[in-house]
Amino acid sequence: MAKITLDNIRHSYLARPEVEEDWALKQLDVVWADGGAYALLGPSGCGKTTLLNIISGLLKPSEGRVLFDDRDVTELPPDQRQIAQVFQFPVIYDTMTVYDNLAFPLRNRGIGETEVDARVRQIAAMLELSERLNTRASGLTADGKQKISLGRGLVRSDVNVIMFDEPLTVIDPHLKWVLRSKLKELHQELRRTMIYVTHDQTEALTFADQVVVMNLGEVVQIGTPVDLFERPQHTFVGHFIGSPGMNLLPCEMDGGKPVFAGRTIPAANADAVKANGGSLEIGVRPEFVSFAEDGIPVQIVKVSDAGRFRIVDTSADGQSIKLLIGEGQGVPSGGACLRFDPDRTRVYRDGWMVT
Ligand code: ADP
Ligand code: MG
Repeated sequence: MAKITLDNIRHSYLARPEVEEDWALKQLDVVWADGGAYALLGPSGCGKTTLLNIISGLLKPSEGRVLFDDRDVTELPPDQRQIAQVFQFPVIYDTMTVYDNLAFPLRNRGIGETEVDARVRQIAAMLELSERLNTRASGLTADGKQKISLGRGLVRSDVNVIMFDEPLTVIDPHLKWVLRSKLKELHQELRRTMIYVTHDQTEALTFADQVVVMNLGEVVQIGTPVDLFERPQHTFVGHFIGSPGMNLLPCEMDGGKPVFAGRTIPAANADAVKANGGSLEIGVRPEFVSFAEDGIPVQIVKVSDAGRFRIVDTSADGQSIKLLIGEGQGVPSGGACLRFDPDRTRVYRDGWMVT
């Protein structure tokens, strides 16, 4: 196993990239700690698969270096990197039995049959495939086949990292939930570095200790699920994670204080902002907004039920502000005033939290 470092990585699929948009990865510096459970989260097209393929060696980056511990592997082909990669769709041998499919990555590396047998049975048990070991893979459902793919990724004990690229896409919703918890358990059991790619925040937040959030070819934040929720470093993290996402309101600085709709809004990082310049916004999650006697005057627009709480849509100065309230809590009719928790309210400049 190894620590993996992406050092100054940039990648373009074009021969002569010119503008910023020509880069699939703009600038990446990420260190993946040995044994960590990571999720790589971002919308489709943001560069997740490109990043994985650079780690595995299927792709050579246009610029920068890949290090395993302190060894530069940028020029090494995939088969010399000791990496397991599970793709979105099953990659298995249909004519082989489940057993032989799982054994393949081990036999391929000349591992003795005694050890092969022990590993195959261990992984099959974890994935609840023990009963099917002698069945031909072609006889399994799509779910079953993807479990074999996962097993083939998990079976080797010599890998530096196991990477899963949206592996549950073809799995039905119920089994998705089961497999996701299984992967989490497997991480705790195997203690191997795992990178789990997804565009689904629930998947990312339930699997990972650390979530790497990407947007438009860059990493916008690396943090625990709690960090992403409580301290979004970028407005993208604020609205991509959370349901509903963070409220964003245009503001300007006046006398060193952020002002929205003619009112001063206390914010945790107000002192750091100092001056106007760029596009300034106040960000506060709906969880940290409440009704108050005195505060920002709003009109109630809509109240929707969301299970254990309700989402209240309000409007102030043409801007939408959402808040969450508990079951028993009443909603004022017509007009009301809102208060933002100052410790959870921050000013963002051009998308980035001002520090
Ligand atoms: P993700 O996995 O997050 O959906 P990708 O890494 O597949 O994103 O893609 C990142 C960007 O690079 C996208 O704009 C995509 O169109 C482009 N891209 C991906 N693969 C290729 C390729 N083989 N050739 C050219 N462009 C590509
Ligand atoms: Mg992808």
